[in-house]
Amino acid sequence: MKGVDVENFKNYFISIIEEFDGETKVKEEINLSTRGDEVDLYNSEKEHSLELKLRGRNLHYIKKVKAALQRIEEGHFGECAECGVEIGMNRLTARPTAHLCIGCKEEQERDEGKRVDRMFHPSQKKRGSFINVKKMTEESFEKSA
Ligand SMILES: [Zn+2]
Repeated sequence: MKGVDVENFKNYFISIIEEFDGETKVKEEINLSTRGDEVDLYNSEKEHSLELKLRGRNLHYIKKVKAALQRIEEGHFGECAECGVEIGMNRLTARPTAHLCIGCKEEQERDEGKRVDRMFHPSQKKRGSFINVKKMTEESFEKSA
């Protein structure tokens, strides 16, 4: 990948992280200033739990962004983590945090699918099922991100 492209992605990732950090600070300040106001406690608690959910999703995404930044630092950005081929500009433009080429990604999704099938098998142990559910949830969020 050309140096100028890598630089563009790097700036993009840094701006996402800065924006996220900035939002977090503003939210904390708002929370501090409204603390003690019990009039809309019910509503604010509802908002708070929604916010936590959104924040959890953002954190998941920020983690991916940071991992991508690390790949830039290490000089592996744009390479598939599985097979080492170039991920391709089209895919990276659509999904800048992608760390697998489309071929490996599809294979991974097929594997996830198999695991989900097994999850509903009655002989599956409970512990294993829980892990698969978590993976599946993360994966479906990944698609919507
Ligand atoms: Zn690959």
